[in-house]
Amino acid sequence: MVTDGRNGRPATVSENRSAADRRSCAGRFAALTVRACGVAEEREGDDLVRPGIEGIDELLRDRLLIMVNDRSAIDVLPYVPARTGGLVLTGAAAPVRCREIRNARPEMVVVTDHGSHTEHIASVDAPFGLKTRGGWRELDVTGLNEVLDGQRDNRASYAVTPTCFIEGDETADLPVLNAVIRQANQLRRQDTVVLVPCSWRWLRRSCVSHLSEQIQACRHPVALILQADGDPLDRVQAPEGLRQLCRSCPRLVLWRTDLAAFDAMAHGALGAAVGASAVLRHGVAPRPGTGGGGHKPYPVVLVRRLLRYHRVATLQDWFAHIAPWTCDCAVCGGAALTRFTDSDAHTVAALRHTVCELYGLHEELDATLPGDERIGWWRQQLADAWEYHRLLASQTDTEVAFPKVLQSWRRPCPPALPMVGRRRAQDRSRPS
Ligand SMILES: [Zn+2]
Repeated sequence: MVTDGRNGRPATVSENRSAADRRSCAGRFAALTVRACGVAEEREGDDLVRPGIEGIDELLRDRLLIMVNDRSAIDVLPYVPARTGGLVLTGAAAPVRCREIRNARPEMVVVTDHGSHTEHIASVDAPFGLKTRGGWRELDVTGLNEVLDGQRDNRASYAVTPTCFIEGDETADLPVLNAVIRQANQLRRQDTVVLVPCSWRWLRRSCVSHLSEQIQACRHPVALILQADGDPLDRVQAPEGLRQLCRSCPRLVLWRTDLAAFDAMAHGALGAAVGASAVLRHGVAPRPGTGGGGHKPYPVVLVRRLLRYHRVATLQDWFAHIAPWTCDCAVCGGAALTRFTDSDAHTVAALRHTVCELYGLHEELDATLPGDERIGWWRQQLADAWEYHRLLASQTDTEVAFPKVLQSWRRPCPPALPMVGRRRAQDRSRPS
């Protein structure tokens, strides 16, 4: 029943108009800049194929991408709004799928992630690399450029660096983080996002300023992936550290994440990519020999009222004796959230429901002005979620814990980190 890919509660006309106006003005400016710089290479149906610096920022701004394996991309595509959404494709067939989708839907933002960070640990000498048929290939700047060109040749809306995993030892790994940024800064291109896949430990109070300085020093937007066993934001100091980063790094995108996307975008992140499956909702450290995936997915759904993903089995337990909560998204159409089984059809439907609910929430965020209004909106979502947890506990007479990460998001924002002095001075001296 989706006609325009939009779901969720409608924003007011004036809200929608203000969000659309901001975007279209910025888009026009970007297009002009690209043409003026002479780096645009327009093809049929594309707004921006080889965007300039402003172009890529505007392509990322307030955009929520769904990170999905190439096998599931077509399942979710009809529920992704082209104006505010898009796809990050993973998996072996991601380049082919990217080309197919962009050929069929040139207005859709689609990019690919090689997943090098799940395969290999970065070093100062080899921060970038790629798994190929012939084995692991380390990439120098020339090789890196070839790989990025390859992504664009497969019609990716922008290129994403195949960065290897950055471990979390402050002393030993700061030079590695520095090597990622230094080498990326040698790229003479304006169509690239630099992936920084790192341990959650970089968010600790003692480390976060180092990470912030490196991200600020990058000439390209940075997509941050946080790795931990379990939810990285369950770790001490991690939610505060991430907010500080988002407030301090205006060109930061949070990748391979969950509802942290909304906390990040409320606090200044440029955009985000939310994983379609649990494994794509946080970083994964390389474990040689184990390979990826293989386990049968069980149905997990986003329960929007609770701002949380739950296994359907958990919902079935809660609602064993009372009427289950229903969902009004375009997929569910008022049906119960407990209905999903582990059949293939239901697993797809559960994923589609979750994508609809994410974009419903995102549509509300997108209708707010960045800053206090957006933070206020997010605080209200968290307050509502707290109330719904209490309601559920009383309705079902069970313990329903309010998750630690949601508790931490209800706390006041920490102060922004200082900008890197030299870079700030450079920015000020540039003509606006
Ligand atoms: Zn639904």
